[in-house]
Amino acid sequence: MDCIFCKIIAGEIPSFKVHEDDATLAFMDINPLTEGHLLVLPKRHVTGLFDTDEETLTATMAAVRKVALALKGSLGIDSMNLLQANGPWAAQSVPHLHFHLIPRREGDGAGMDWPLKPGDMDAIGKLREKISAAGG
Ligand code: 5GP
Ligand code: ZN
Repeated sequence: MDCIFCKIIAGEIPSFKVHEDDATLAFMDINPLTEGHLLVLPKRHVTGLFDTDEETLTATMAAVRKVALALKGSLGIDSMNLLQANGPWAAQSVPHLHFHLIPRREGDGAGMDWPLKPGDMDAIGKLREKISAAGG
């Protein structure tokens, strides 16, 4: 399979690993948005949240928590963004499920805040009905 993260998992491509267990791997992102930016992912190849089974996701989130606490303890941070992209319009560039753990520090300029603009309550209510009816 031509998946760069599967190759990292298989050891065919080197990485700076910070955590590994039977089901998951965590390694440093080589294009860090902030100091300490790393990725946590399942070893099973799933492309994103939409095709991930619950067991795989549960194992991955447990690893996310463990690594987040390691980041906090080692780097002395008290802020972090957890980011996960699904699909091209969400800026997913590697189609193997992964969570970005991005340490945040005062004035780091990494963004990710957006202006609060009140929405159309009718439209929001209708969307709520549609999503809820689909099992949300
Ligand atoms: P996405 O845009 O899919 O959410 O994020 C993919 C991430 O994978 C990017 O932040 C990128 O820097 C990282 N990445 C891509 N190729 C490699 C690689 O070969 N090694 C490592 N460690 N990270 C990679
Ligand atoms: Zn893969």
